[in-house]
Amino acid sequence: MSKQETKYIFVVGGVISGVGKGITASSIGLILKNRGLKVTAIKIDPYINVDAGTMNPTEHGEVFVLSDGDETDQDMGNYERFLGIDLTRINYMTTGRVYQKVIERERNLDYKGKCVEVVPHIPMEVIERIKQAGVVAAADVVVIEIGGTIGEYQNMLFLEAARMMKLTTPKDVSFVMVSYLPTPGKVGEMKTKPTQHAVRALNGSGIQPDILIARGETSLDEKRKEKLSLFCNVPADRVVSAPDVDSIYDIPLNFEKEKLSDKLCDIMGVVCQAPDAKAWAGWKNFAKHAHNGKETVKIAMIGKYFESGEFVLSDAYLSVIEAIKYSAYSQNRKPIISWLNAVDFEKGGQALKNLKKYDGIVVPGGFGSRGVEGKLNVVKYARENKIPYFGLCYGMQMMVIEYARNVLRLKDANTKEVNPSSKNKVIDVMASQKDILENNLYGGTMRLGAYKAVLGKGTIAADVYRSKEVLERHRHRYEVNSVFVGELEAKGLVFSGKSPDGTLMEIAELPRSVHPFFLGTQFHPEFLARPLSPHPLFTAFIKAAIGKNK
Ligand code: GLN
Repeated sequence: MSKQETKYIFVVGGVISGVGKGITASSIGLILKNRGLKVTAIKIDPYINVDAGTMNPTEHGEVFVLSDGDETDQDMGNYERFLGIDLTRINYMTTGRVYQKVIERERNLDYKGKCVEVVPHIPMEVIERIKQAGVVAAADVVVIEIGGTIGEYQNMLFLEAARMMKLTTPKDVSFVMVSYLPTPGKVGEMKTKPTQHAVRALNGSGIQPDILIARGETSLDEKRKEKLSLFCNVPADRVVSAPDVDSIYDIPLNFEKEKLSDKLCDIMGVVCQAPDAKAWAGWKNFAKHAHNGKETVKIAMIGKYFESGEFVLSDAYLSVIEAIKYSAYSQNRKPIISWLNAVDFEKGGQALKNLKKYDGIVVPGGFGSRGVEGKLNVVKYARENKIPYFGLCYGMQMMVIEYARNVLRLKDANTKEVNPSSKNKVIDVMASQKDILENNLYGGTMRLGAYKAVLGKGTIAADVYRSKEVLERHRHRYEVNSVFVGELEAKGLVFSGKSPDGTLMEIAELPRSVHPFFLGTQFHPEFLARPLSPHPLFTAFIKAAIGKNK
């Protein structure tokens, strides 16, 4: 398209949280990209934390790490995966981050002696960031998701920023509200009233939605569509039904059945191309896999961040789950993931033997000592019983500790993170992290973001990546202790990926002649897995799990 003014679409949520604002924002991005528009996305989290890195995963879900090292919200992962793009820290903002910048500016006399006020200075900073993200990406459209739900106190200043943008450039700003229509069991019909209230609350912030996405267990019928239209002041053809689906990857397809990209282009007043049939067919073909695959691949995920009261939440491992899906789909398999608590393996016994029924085992990232002995038992069992094993970050460190304990016979081998007084700290704190930990400078200070690793010739890593070096995202403070590398290698553990200067062990593996797949990465490959380009290491793991090793 010829260059027009950048357009901004704000996505806000009504009634309850957790109804898929992030997936809606990602899907809107995708359907517009498919119309030839250059799209970028922004997530706004209304909490005070400067980033998501300091929050417990059971509280917040996964911390998604960007290539530039920013520790962000899991929705950023959804944007990257749906849009097939790499985002940077300008695409993520929190209340803490915005205030921090405004206060820094005030200290630097940037406001030239003015009284710096919550309004307008905070919203102005928000607006500046939104615009900058558009400029950096040379975007035609910026999709901005405002976290939280309408009516709460926390996100008001962000709504205020959106209102101010609409006031100054009315043609460039539009609003999509994702709302929820409950169907109470005893009542048995879909109710529109909570959404009517939510739209009124949004109106109270000076904002009128252009599109209403009506989430619910079932589709919206014509009668309720008209009711919402009348009471929410949104034309009926701009009320979009969005029933629950089995796979989030169907959502863009469902939106297009409702011609949402046409409607959005119309609202924004942009000239867009006809849908890109080839790209769309690619997405459709991928989405279809979520429903196909009669044969399964059973994966055990050994973690600890999924207890939530009486419920099990897998949010802390979102990117790992998606990465497994993409690779399993590429092999025409349906992944069945079981959540097993690391603590339950501490005593060994039957719990370990039950692992036999899985095709593969993943130990994902983690912190602290709880569950570590259980994980080590699992790694030993996987190694000795030749069950494909994939260790991600902490899961790789566990591999090295287990190998040191049981093959090198260093009985007290451990990571400094768990046992600082162990004589055999095969995993030690990185030199660059020592001062940071001594001074309690925790926020945003791990080894974060994309770093290069050089792959060893003839290794599984080099084979599956089909490359001599890779760039992968990291998030850790500890590393394999170089003192033990020689001994570990002499006893058969292969460090198949190393930092370019050779000092940092990035990938550990056992040769295929010894084990079908026993590999761990100090980095997090899950952050780079994309629907249309599954991650090679995950695919190699899944292939081994279904017995398809060469
Ligand atoms: N706790 C380990 C470290 O800091 C592993 C981190 C992770 O798994 N992301 O090195």
